[in-house]
Amino acid sequence: MRHLVLLSSLVLLAACQNGRRSEPMTANDAGDLDARVAAVVSCIDAQWVPVEFKTPSCSYLPPQDGFLPANEAYAVLWMQSAYESEAVISSIYGAAGMQLDQALAAPGHALATSELDHPSERKPPAIIVDIDETIVDNDAFNARGLAKRFIQFDEGYFDCWGAEQKARGYPAAVRLLRDAEAKGATVFYVTNRRENQRTPVVETLRREGFPVRADGANVVFRNFGGTNDDGSREKGPRRQCVASQFRVAMMFGDNLGDFVDHVHQRPEQRRALATKEGADSHWGRTWFMLPNPVYGSWLAVMQGFRADGQTPGSDRERNLESWADPQLPDAETGTVQESFESERTPQ
Ligand SMILES: [Mg+2]
Repeated sequence: MRHLVLLSSLVLLAACQNGRRSEPMTANDAGDLDARVAAVVSCIDAQWVPVEFKTPSCSYLPPQDGFLPANEAYAVLWMQSAYESEAVISSIYGAAGMQLDQALAAPGHALATSELDHPSERKPPAIIVDIDETIVDNDAFNARGLAKRFIQFDEGYFDCWGAEQKARGYPAAVRLLRDAEAKGATVFYVTNRRENQRTPVVETLRREGFPVRADGANVVFRNFGGTNDDGSREKGPRRQCVASQFRVAMMFGDNLGDFVDHVHQRPEQRRALATKEGADSHWGRTWFMLPNPVYGSWLAVMQGFRADGQTPGSDRERNLESWADPQLPDAETGTVQESFESERTPQ
């Protein structure tokens, strides 16, 4: 398989370098699309450092502390039960659908300013979407964690949830992405789920009706090593691999990191970062953010996670109170948190 990918990449590279192709790419050129997707996979594989994931037996429960932060309960309930949540999601994808034709026809990449490394000319369009809480919901998982008072997000337990294949697609997202594919766009699902979840994730996406290639090559998992030296949740290198072969026309996410890298900063710094990266000209046109009040990089910096990944619910709540009222001391340090260990949730 890897040899075929490499061969396809070399053939495509040679064709481009020899300048044999002088006409605009069309979506009907299926062979060309196959070669381009293979080249994206090859590009991402080049960043990949194999890591052995230990999937737990799924018979265990993460540590519990018996504390239920009120703010977390409201957020999970809103995502899981409120019609308002459905309406927001439908509104976003409806608005995106009205922008679709223009976005697919427009020149240039819909990428952050610092990620415009690859030319866009003569490339077929692609749409990059995050998975969790962008096109599928994990509401039942989040509610389970809350109900059982888990101390903190547990990645192994999330793997077990993934294996259950109970995540449900947002119908409006299915419609938008199927429409985009019918109009010639290739959809890339760029997720921070780990590669050991490939089978249940691909099967879930297919079951929900999302356009997934027969070989699943357009589902891109979190990778390690190479330019991703943080282990590695940054999606920029993967976006760049897509942009090396496709013109990125639209992006969808529930986290700022689905659009730009280096988002693990304080709120005012994140806002400045987004502005610097040209976000204001993209929102609602080519970039679409889905609501997620339950988890994300926006929250991680405020919760002041402990290095051991076991931040009690009472501390999480107190830390958030310190952001709401700067006069209140932080639970851990006595001051507003300036740093944090890492994001502990899927993106
Ligand atoms: Mg997400």
